[in-house]
Amino acid sequence: MAKIKGAIVVDTARCKGCDICVTSCPFDVLRMSREVNEKGYTYSYMLNPDNCTGCASCGLVCPDGCIKVYKLKV
Ligand code: SF4
Ligand code: SF4
Repeated sequence: MAKIKGAIVVDTARCKGCDICVTSCPFDVLRMSREVNEKGYTYSYMLNPDNCTGCASCGLVCPDGCIKVYKLKV
């Protein structure tokens, strides 16, 4: 049977660096960037992409809807 793995895509240009998604992830996937976007905010990215299950917690908590969550068959 195919295994299901998650992946997310952050709209980095719209991210305001609030960090809520990072703390919401139960699998320690996300971190904030060192660089800033064009508005001067840090943005979240997948530090540990292999840990992502596609649980969608990060996508639900983002106040600006910046995170799309995908489930992939691997
Ligand atoms: S979908 Fe779930 S496991 Fe994946 S980054 Fe978001 S909160 Fe973490
Ligand atoms: S919750 Fe949304 S706005 Fe806040 S850091 Fe994460 S992606 Fe950016």
